[in-house]
Amino acid sequence: MPVKVDRDLCIGCGACTGVCPTESLSLDEEGKSVCNEETCVDCGACVATCPVSALSQ
Ligand code: SF4
Ligand code: SF4
Repeated sequence: MPVKVDRDLCIGCGACTGVCPTESLSLDEEGKSVCNEETCVDCGACVATCPVSALSQ
């Protein structure tokens, strides 16, 4: 299962995109994080990194 992004909480800092080992996270046109469900391996690294707890598994 890919991580879920709470778009109301995400501040678009980009921290999660830098820690993902499979480069599954990117910022969309609104500056919110989006997860590629095809490549996410559910490692949890991004969840632990987000400063505003916008990501969950
Ligand atoms: S759970 Fe792991 S693989 Fe999936 S988006 Fe987060 S850092 Fe990337
Ligand atoms: S680390 Fe959190 S706040 Fe920053 S872009 Fe990722 S989901 Fe959004």
